[in-house]
Amino acid sequence: MIIVPEREIAGLVSASDCFTAVEQVFASMARKSAYNFPVIRESIGHADALYGFKSGFDRESLALGLKSGGFWPNNLAKGLTNHQSTVFLFDADTGRCRAVVGGNLLTALRTAAASAVSIKYLAGPDARVLGMIGAGHQSTFQLRAALDQRSFEKVVAWNLHPEGLDRLAAIAAERDLPFEVVDLDTLGAEADVIITITSSFAPILKKAQVRPGTHLACMGTDTKGKQEVESRLFETATIFTDEIAQSVTIGEAQHPVSEGLIERERIVEIGAVINGDHPGRSSAEEITLFDGTGVGLQDLAVASAAVDLAVQRGVAIEVDF
Ligand code: NAD
Repeated sequence: MIIVPEREIAGLVSASDCFTAVEQVFASMARKSAYNFPVIRESIGHADALYGFKSGFDRESLALGLKSGGFWPNNLAKGLTNHQSTVFLFDADTGRCRAVVGGNLLTALRTAAASAVSIKYLAGPDARVLGMIGAGHQSTFQLRAALDQRSFEKVVAWNLHPEGLDRLAAIAAERDLPFEVVDLDTLGAEADVIITITSSFAPILKKAQVRPGTHLACMGTDTKGKQEVESRLFETATIFTDEIAQSVTIGEAQHPVSEGLIERERIVEIGAVINGDHPGRSSAEEITLFDGTGVGLQDLAVASAAVDLAVQRGVAIEVDF
């Protein structure tokens, strides 16, 4: 069995490796070759922690396994990250444990890769202004990955509190891009692509603030009750997601579906666009919305890439297990 420790991931796996892995697994999901198993998420009644598993199997890559992880809100005081994830991969032919991989950085990279894939396939080709809503831990990964997808000329950003916006400004500066902190009206009026990556439980961005032609990647809502955009935005947008079952239960689409504003049949898996089975954006005026809920298969795909790279570069720790 191979161990790839968390400390090795940054030196092994690039954003580009994760983009390729996530693009491939979304395509495999839409071909019905890969499927996610039901998600387990429990409040364990200790240390205020939420703990769970995301798992699945991809018959094309033979990635089989699970990500175990959760949220320990008191970790920061101990000098640890609140979100803790570990990926376990199993040999699809024998069921033996193949690898244990640190999953913290990989989670951020695979989440950023998902919105980047959505931008590649759904944003207008001439998108020039990127709007960021949220400036927490994930947002820096989101921003870097998005900037690789179009020739953006400016970044506009909004956060509930000013903290964190400096980190986004620094990334824009690295790329020689102007960066402006704006209100939500201005953000919607200027941005061609908007990424929402917050832990909000109430809509932040309103339908009236989004102009025709915008692509939205809504990435923060991954739990029942969270919400980042007004449900009515879904009425006129063309809606895409990683997995429909998650989108309507724990994703952003849970709200418009439960409110009866849209039918789940209107939601398209982004893999169908990658495979050429759905045209994606069909006009310059269309609003496209990607509901990125975060699936276990993304974790398995990027962890498999990490294992392959660790073996190639001689940093995989082999243990007799
Ligand atoms: P974080 O705690 O570091 O940052 C949270 C962000 O949300 C901050 O910008 C904060 O200002 C903002 N925020 C919190 N409450 C808000 C409110 N009421 N209104 C507006 N903004 C508010 O969290 P993070 O690690 O950056 O994660 C952000 C979100 O992304 C979380 O909800 C997390 O669960 C989710 N997430 C999704 C995926 C996925 O695959 N879709 C993966 C990882 C994390």
